[in-house]
Amino acid sequence: MAPFDHDLFVIGGGSGGVRAARIAAGHGARVAVAEQSRYGGTCVIRGCIPKKLLVYAAHFHEDFADAAGYGWTVGEARFSWPGLIAAKDKEIARLEGIYRKLLTDAGAKVLDGRATLADAHTVVLDGKRVTAETILVATGGRAVKPAIPGAELAITSDEAFHLADLPRRIAVLGGGYIACEFAGIFNGLGAEVTLAYRGEALLRGFDGDVRQHLGEEIQRKGIKLVLGAAPARIEKRGGELAVIFGDGREIAADAVMAATGRHPNTAGIGLEAAGVKLAKDGAVAVDEWSRSSVANIYAVGDVTNRVNLTPVAIKEAHAFADTLYGRRPAKADHRNVAHAVFSQPSVSCVGLSEEDARREGFEVKIFRTRFRALKHTLSGRQEFTLMKLVVDAASDRVLGAHMVGAEAAEIIQGLAIAIRCGARKADFDATVGIHPTAAEEFVTMRTAVAPAPAH
Ligand code: NDP
Repeated sequence: MAPFDHDLFVIGGGSGGVRAARIAAGHGARVAVAEQSRYGGTCVIRGCIPKKLLVYAAHFHEDFADAAGYGWTVGEARFSWPGLIAAKDKEIARLEGIYRKLLTDAGAKVLDGRATLADAHTVVLDGKRVTAETILVATGGRAVKPAIPGAELAITSDEAFHLADLPRRIAVLGGGYIACEFAGIFNGLGAEVTLAYRGEALLRGFDGDVRQHLGEEIQRKGIKLVLGAAPARIEKRGGELAVIFGDGREIAADAVMAATGRHPNTAGIGLEAAGVKLAKDGAVAVDEWSRSSVANIYAVGDVTNRVNLTPVAIKEAHAFADTLYGRRPAKADHRNVAHAVFSQPSVSCVGLSEEDARREGFEVKIFRTRFRALKHTLSGRQEFTLMKLVVDAASDRVLGAHMVGAEAAEIIQGLAIAIRCGARKADFDATVGIHPTAAEEFVTMRTAVAPAPAH
């Protein structure tokens, strides 16, 4: 008889946990996976997927207006928030079913409930103890609100997906991915949006030109951008809410959304009992094989706070399962991970920003273009696209590609392969563009520009 009930017990049925469980089971391991909420995790249930559906919904507003420039007369457009939420919920329920089926088809045991560790090999679920040779912690992260008086009055992205009505006025706090994405969603759907960020330009860590450009474009779309605004408290005043900032400024709104970061879900799951060390930020500390300080306990995805993106969690999980059960040692590569912010317009980047490249000691050549897309010659829309290449002057290697504009993520995904392969600027120049597209600008930028002033 095997000494353990399972070869692998996965805690958390999100993108990372499900991938690890499926692949390990496919390699013949006896796998159980437990999820306390809904299978699919943050990405499928309350993140990437429902967010992107809401982004599509919000974009129709502009599409109807743009159609007029092309000879269309569009009748009065009306939007139903409950209609959108119901359609979104139906799709999410379908996807959750698919995730469960993927697991059962692979032969994994699918459990519902909160699993906690009693020791390094024992999991407790609904009062029942089961043992496993290996444990994978894939519990993800959760939204956190600022520690200010009245924070309980604010919603987070979790609740934003289930609001009964679209707020007439909403204040979004934060300047990262979620803040930029939801400001665009609410604005497109017709709410009056104030985006309040404590820094001087949105999207800290992104290329300076991207940060600047996005700030300009979202304001042109009607979002009120308030910078240098650190929230100090939130108050209920009659039927409305007020956000009061450290410098005394105030914003009145019907709803306040805190998009002020996410923390790894490491509390209350028995990691201490099992002896697992946490990093300073509260994440499970892991090595390059996703192994924790306890030899048989591994962790992947947002709970490790490495690169908090779904495809990265999936890569980490797949590598873990191949290494332990497929006799194919593999590590997830965290370099040159392309990423996108589905703001409106969208942002996408791969590789180094100009600032990071300089910080790393590269002497860089910068190629940058800012243009109005062909579509907007007839639509009349004042929207500008930004594209930028950061090139190592010594080797001619393209270190980074950055875009703000329609379909940025679709375009950067292709460039990510080239950059991963070590493409040089000369390779970009030798590539024939597809005409007429916006993407062709990436292969037709001939002249380096003077370095941008420091942002
Ligand atoms: P981010 O870390 O991207 O942004 C958090 C924002 O909140 C920052 O602007 C930060 O400011 C600000 N902030 C933090 N604490 C406070 C505070 N106490 N008061 C005021 N402002 C504060 O987190 P998100 O929640 O937007 O997203 C979490 C992660 O999830 C992302 O980093 C990303 O990895 C992932 N994600 C990916 C998406 C995608 O791929 N499209 C979409 C959504 C999320 P400052 O910059 O000054 O620190």
